[in-house]
Amino acid sequence: MAERSNHLFPWMQSLFEGLIERNQAKQLPHAILFVGEWLEDTEQFLTRLTRALLCQSADEKPCGQCKSCLLFQAGSHPDLLNVTVEEGAKRIKIDQVRAVIEFDTKKPQIGQIKVIAMTAIETMNANSANALLKCLEEPSPNTLLLLQSNDIHQVLPTILSRCQKQALPKPSLEEAHLWLSKSVSEKAHRDRLLSFTDGNPLKAQQYYEDNRLLALDNYADQLIRLMQGEVRIVELGEKIIKDNPNAWLDYLQTLCITLSKVSAGGANDQQLSRALVELTAKEKFSELLYPFFDCVNEAKAETLTQSNPNMQLLIESLLYRWAAFTRKLLR
Ligand SMILES: [Zn+2]
Repeated sequence: MAERSNHLFPWMQSLFEGLIERNQAKQLPHAILFVGEWLEDTEQFLTRLTRALLCQSADEKPCGQCKSCLLFQAGSHPDLLNVTVEEGAKRIKIDQVRAVIEFDTKKPQIGQIKVIAMTAIETMNANSANALLKCLEEPSPNTLLLLQSNDIHQVLPTILSRCQKQALPKPSLEEAHLWLSKSVSEKAHRDRLLSFTDGNPLKAQQYYEDNRLLALDNYADQLIRLMQGEVRIVELGEKIIKDNPNAWLDYLQTLCITLSKVSAGGANDQQLSRALVELTAKEKFSELLYPFFDCVNEAKAETLTQSNPNMQLLIESLLYRWAAFTRKLLR
């Protein structure tokens, strides 16, 4: 993590430099809310930005050598407060927000400014959010609030209206390929990985490291065998649970999107096997796909919002629906 956080993704470079320049010219707003689509690069960007804002070097920031950078690396910078959902918790707690308010009133000890970095701010309940408003409404002159949210729609409007929103850029497909090519040399593999991860090169790299390409082929084979009645639901369900049920759900979501694209005459960018592609040519395909896709999305949402979802029931019911859906088409 430490090494990764040293790294700045090429597609974030110009935004990063712009923010550092604005800080030097003392033109940064008191509170910025960063909105990124992907958690992987957003977190890294914020870590790097925080370090650079605190760095005391007159040249390139973060320098990695000044007192501030060393304290940051040691995780004991007195002018930095990191706030996020604690392990095992579901939201940022009111006590954490109280700590923010207290920190806000202190004078910086090392440099000119203090930084409060808060992630997942959408998890604050109304009480916590209202407490935070105090910092946003009466900003202390030497504090920067770097806020991040995974879901801006869940953030209270009173908070939103008091921050400057900054969207984080995504890489173009070319940039994603270029970055990913350092670890995945074969273009065909990169194509598949990027298509499966919706163009997210970091996730694509993770999938590659986890050997997920092979797993994707297995998933497709299993679904085809189920549709042909060659495998039993309970058996297959057990296998999926033992392996990686969340990855399987991701796969199913992507598969539905790909099938719907192919059925609309789009490219088969997942290189789906023929048995699956043939489904899309069947009468009533779209009509039957969408209810199935809804169930997949509901199941996925359940795994994200429930602390202890019944995975076996969830997976088995999707397998049952897949079998019913495909058999209706093949009848
Ligand atoms: Zn430094």
